[in-house]
Amino acid sequence: MAGHPDAEAILRWYAAVRRDLPWRRTSDPYRILVSEVMLQQTQVARVVPYYEAWLERFPSAGALAVAPAAEVLRMWSGLGYNRRALALQAACGVVARDGWPQTVEGLMALPGVGPYTAAAVASFAFGVQAAAVDTNVRRVIERLDRRARRPPELARRADALVPAGRAADWNQALMELGATVCTARAPACEACPAASCRSQGRPQLAPTARRGAADRVRFEETDRYVRGRVVAALVAGAALPDGFAPERLERALAGLERDGLVVREAGAVRLP
Ligand code: SF4
Repeated sequence: MAGHPDAEAILRWYAAVRRDLPWRRTSDPYRILVSEVMLQQTQVARVVPYYEAWLERFPSAGALAVAPAAEVLRMWSGLGYNRRALALQAACGVVARDGWPQTVEGLMALPGVGPYTAAAVASFAFGVQAAAVDTNVRRVIERLDRRARRPPELARRADALVPAGRAADWNQALMELGATVCTARAPACEACPAASCRSQGRPQLAPTARRGAADRVRFEETDRYVRGRVVAALVAGAALPDGFAPERLERALAGLERDGLVVREAGAVRLP
C-alpha cells in the first residue's frame, strides 16, 4: 500500500487540532529524545513541567552526560521507571563523544533507545521517512488497515503509509489521532478524518479494543511500585519505605542495585 487514501485529510486534521506541546516546537534531537523518553510511560500533562525543568538543568546532551547520577535521578523523581533516566544519560554520553547518529539504526544503537524512539527522533529531528509506531499508533494502523496485524507485517505497512516527505507530521498526526480520537476503549469515529477507515463505526472489531480487566494488575501490587517508592524516599533523603514484606523490599532493592539505581554498602542504601 503506498500512502493512505485519507492521508491528506488526516494531515489537515492534525494541522487544525494539534496541541502546542513544547517538544513540537523544536527539531533539536536532544530535546526530542528527552521528551520521547519521558513520554514512554507518562501522560503528556504530567511530562510538560518535568521536561521544562529538565532542560533548564541539563540544556544539552553534553550537560546531561557529565551530571552526577544522583542529580539525574533527583530531577527524574516522580516520573517513574527511573532506569529510563540513567539510560538517557548513557545515550547522551555516547552522543557527547561521537555526535548524533542520524539514521533509525544508528539511533537504536544508543542505550535505552528502541525502534519507536529511534524512528521518532529520526523523523522529527532529521526528517527520515520512518514510521514511529507506539501503542497508540499501532492501534490506529490496525484499525485503518485491518490486514496490518503482526509486527513484521505491521512495520512494513506502517512505513508504507508514511506520505512522501511528511514523516514528522504524519507520525505526530497518528499519535494525536490515537491519543484523542481513535482511543482504545471509546473511539470517536464520527469525529475522525479517516473517512475510508475499514473499522469506521465498528472499532470493536479491531484487536486492541478488546482488552479485559483480568489482564490488568493493580500498580500498587507490582515490584515496580516498590522500586519507585524506594527511589522517591532516597531522593527525598528519607528512610526506606515501610509497610512492604521484607522479601518484596529485598527483591526491589536487588533489582535497583542490578540496574545501577542504588548502591548498597555497609548495610545502608543510597543513590549512586
Ligand atoms: S474511523 Fe474510528 S476506528 Fe477508524 S481510525 Fe478513525 S476513530 Fe479509529
